[in-house]
Amino acid sequence: MRWTTDKIRQSFLDFFKERGHQVIPSFPIVPKGDPTLLFVNAGMAPMKDYFLGVRTPPSRRVVDCQKCLRISGKHNDLEAVGRDTYHHTFFEMLGNWSFGDYYKAEAIPWHWELITKVWGVDPKLLYATVYKDDDEAEQVWLKLNVLPKERVMRFEKENFWSMGDTGPCGPCSEIHVDRGEKACKGEAHPGIACGVNVDGCERFIELGNLVFIQYNRDESGKLTPLPQKHVDTGSGLERIAAALQSLERSDGKTLGNYEIDLFQTIIQKIESAVGELGSGARYGQRPETDISFRAIADHARTMTFLIAEGVNPGNSEREYVLRRIIRRAARHGRYLGVHQPFLAIAQQGVVDAMGDAYPEIRKDAAKIAQVITEEEARFGETLDRGLELIDQEKARLKKSGAKTLPGDVAFKLYDTYGFPLDLTQDVLRNDGIEVDTAEFDRLMGEQRERARAARKDEAAGPEIQIAAGTSSRFVGHHSYEGESEVLAAGAQDGGSIAIVVAETPFYPEGGGQVGDRGVIETASGALAEITETRKAEGSIVHLGRILQGEVADFRRGAQVKLRIDRIRRDAAMLNHSATHILHYALRDILGTQVHQAGSLVTPDRLRFDFSHQGPVGAEALSDIEEEINARVRENAEVTVEEMAYDQALKAGALAFFGDKYGDVVRVVRMGDFSVELCGGTHVSRTGDVGFFKLHAESGVASGVRRIEAATGQGALEAVREQEKLLGQLGAKLGSTDAAALDRLEKIIAREKELEKKLRALEQKLASGGGNGGDGAAAENVREVNGIKVVMRRADGIDPRALREMADRMRQKHGSAVVALGSDQGEGKVALLVAVTPDLTARIKAGDIVKQIAPLIGGSGGGRPDMAQAGGRDASKLDEALEKVASLVG
Ligand SMILES: [Zn+2]
Ligand SMILES: [Zn+2]
Repeated sequence: MRWTTDKIRQSFLDFFKERGHQVIPSFPIVPKGDPTLLFVNAGMAPMKDYFLGVRTPPSRRVVDCQKCLRISGKHNDLEAVGRDTYHHTFFEMLGNWSFGDYYKAEAIPWHWELITKVWGVDPKLLYATVYKDDDEAEQVWLKLNVLPKERVMRFEKENFWSMGDTGPCGPCSEIHVDRGEKACKGEAHPGIACGVNVDGCERFIELGNLVFIQYNRDESGKLTPLPQKHVDTGSGLERIAAALQSLERSDGKTLGNYEIDLFQTIIQKIESAVGELGSGARYGQRPETDISFRAIADHARTMTFLIAEGVNPGNSEREYVLRRIIRRAARHGRYLGVHQPFLAIAQQGVVDAMGDAYPEIRKDAAKIAQVITEEEARFGETLDRGLELIDQEKARLKKSGAKTLPGDVAFKLYDTYGFPLDLTQDVLRNDGIEVDTAEFDRLMGEQRERARAARKDEAAGPEIQIAAGTSSRFVGHHSYEGESEVLAAGAQDGGSIAIVVAETPFYPEGGGQVGDRGVIETASGALAEITETRKAEGSIVHLGRILQGEVADFRRGAQVKLRIDRIRRDAAMLNHSATHILHYALRDILGTQVHQAGSLVTPDRLRFDFSHQGPVGAEALSDIEEEINARVRENAEVTVEEMAYDQALKAGALAFFGDKYGDVVRVVRMGDFSVELCGGTHVSRTGDVGFFKLHAESGVASGVRRIEAATGQGALEAVREQEKLLGQLGAKLGSTDAAALDRLEKIIAREKELEKKLRALEQKLASGGGNGGDGAAAENVREVNGIKVVMRRADGIDPRALREMADRMRQKHGSAVVALGSDQGEGKVALLVAVTPDLTARIKAGDIVKQIAPLIGGSGGGRPDMAQAGGRDASKLDEALEKVASLVG
């Protein structure tokens, strides 16, 4: 392949660089300093200020390849992605720019040269378009003398560009390529012949769009010429690649955007994941699965680039876009039979395909994978149940003939199962079912209202009005109590209260560490029990219950004493410091590719999630535990320093990718082994941790492992718990320590042996008793006076097995008298008679046994349904069995 996507991108930049342009890197997709735009949606967007004269461009000639995202507002291509072969959410736009420098006479010939000479497209296949009144541009084309007049076409709205209703605008000229009759089936434009600027036509596609910004439009719509004229060009990289790579083929096949080298690299990765974890479907097999392959490939690019720019999945506007993208992609994974996190594999394809052009996605690949996998795993827990609910609803709607999903179902999917509304709509689209969005919106509004009333905490969340400009400070890194002034308080029926003070020793939940509990007391003796401490918009909110006094006692300006639950805090603190040591030990033993993926620190335990492929072996776990305890015994000093974020990273501090940090950060050091950015509370020496005990290691998602552990008192209690369990086991086994193990091994061995014997016996019985070679002869069945008598010799079988055999025979025959005789060797002979319950009124097993026992030189007896006898003379055993039949008679 000559024109790979990478080569096309580079050739474009090089071509214009040779013509005096400065090559600039892509602007971020998340626009800096433009609140009107959620994402950069065209190459033009970040250049706006240059055209408006608000900022000075780095050069009057610039060339770039801009990352773009169309997923919200006017340009929202999300619904179409995957369903056709050319829509994307993320795409790249090549552009060359003139800010008051060259104009039509240069821009048009240059593009012609690039397309025909550099990229080698046959001029016979090309068409040009100009705005209907733009004689100037038409003249440039005609003077160039490369296209016949009829192939320089005039259009109206297609060839006029404006930034908005007012502002800079101007005509444009486009270059289109004819990809041949076979390229378009005309499905998107029924009744209209294929042609340039026919909507949805895949035969004629645009290779370049040159905008000539020459007017300013005022409110009345009047156009006035600009003093400076600009050129703004945009060419979709994916589309150019599809065109050039189609022309290179000898088989005449025209490629869609998703069939270019870049997307094939990504799709192959997805195929490998689907092969390993899912249905094994491949791209190009079925139209329905192709939709999912394309959507996942597209979404993988979007999530990779957004996360690389520091966006995390969440509920605010940009964050929610990312969350929707990941969840939609995960749902497409289900359609391909993949039921576990796999998108990190698709992301690897994005890195393979685009990492050379965009080094940031390669550098942060591991962190990006973590963010994707975590979100995927979180949604994975409810995705299947949500899809099930949709299936049920679909069946219900089908029965009733309705075509609208009720708003409350869509809301339940959103609220309980984490389905963004557009995902629900997407799932239902193929069935022609719509969602009652008005009802959905109403329920959302209600929920927002509830959330507002309840603030952050659902259980105890009185509304609280915090005056603008006030903020509270956490001062409890080294203290358990303090005095301060109430800034705001709110209450709810039932005595729950929310209090904000200027300075507090209460640690607000954050960085994985739980919030403090304790009490707040006023000078007048009013007392509130605080059960929860949280951050809320610059303030620290204490939530709890009034024990004495009333809300008015905690009014604004009241002086209060604050005291935290010291034991609880200390326990949480120990666990928090231990996570830092654990983080260090993991990287020390497993390697520095290990990154934190999350943590939870409570007074009782700690949980630490980290990136790692496959389970951590028992030996490594033991090494990790050992290393941690060695560092604890080292009793290293723990110091905290505040410094600028950049400086901290330079000092080698580990920052958790999922956390947001301010400009000034706290750097927590332990000895010479651990440096982390952290706002939590810590011990002053590692020895305070006392003892670290690891409980469990498990997987939480593909590539993410979890360690659970405890420290201090919690660890001691855990060890005691295990000790107690061992003690109880020992008592049952009748010995302790090593002897107990020995005993247990013997029991297990004996059990195995018994099982083997039992199985052999069962087989024997099931086969009807064999032929005597193993001691059990065939049954001798006779009918006497309408009663079935079954006699059988079963030599070598002990009395217990004999009873089991009798039970089986009774079951087998339903109604019968069963007589068994066994020569057990060494002068032992056994007789057994069993009678089914329906016959015991007439025939009693005990009576029969008493009469036949003398024949074997013994005695016996028993119940009416079963009786046994033991003797020494085997010679008359058959006679004894025979006598049973005559006795029944
Ligand atoms: Zn067409
Ligand atoms: Zn920390």
